[in-house]
Amino acid sequence: MDNLKEYHRKRDFRKTPEPEGRKKQKRADHLSYVIQRHHARTLHYDLRLEREGVLKSWAIPKEPPAEAGIKRLAVETEDHPLEYQDFEGSIPEGHYGAGMVEIWDKGNYLPVEWEKNLIVFEINAQRLKGTFCLVKLKPKEDQDKNWLFFKKKENP
Ligand code: MN
Repeated sequence: MDNLKEYHRKRDFRKTPEPEGRKKQKRADHLSYVIQRHHARTLHYDLRLEREGVLKSWAIPKEPPAEAGIKRLAVETEDHPLEYQDFEGSIPEGHYGAGMVEIWDKGNYLPVEWEKNLIVFEINAQRLKGTFCLVKLKPKEDQDKNWLFFKKKENP
């Protein structure tokens, strides 16, 4: 589950400044959360959550919602190495994900629930704060990586 094979297969580390992430890093007791704004062919936002030694990743085509009431599509992508949370820079033309990557929001998170089709977690960061959900959509045809990402309504 937590392997970086796909991440490595897609990249040539002699050509891209992205981290190769070979070494397993021991991290502090909090879990990392980051969203990177990625100006690739199309602008999107990469949500990454530390889990079992890697960063679980989703690409969100529109700006992530800071308030409840807005739901965003989040497309599951390959696991990334933990070091990727600090990555900012330009991936060269002709390479996977070519374009500018910058950190849009960064902090830590606490998983409340982590199920196959539902992840509930508390984000503690600058732009996003509070309880957020990822809900996996029913697979259809060749699409089985689509989730919805949204902020949970506060209990009144
Ligand atoms: Mn991306």
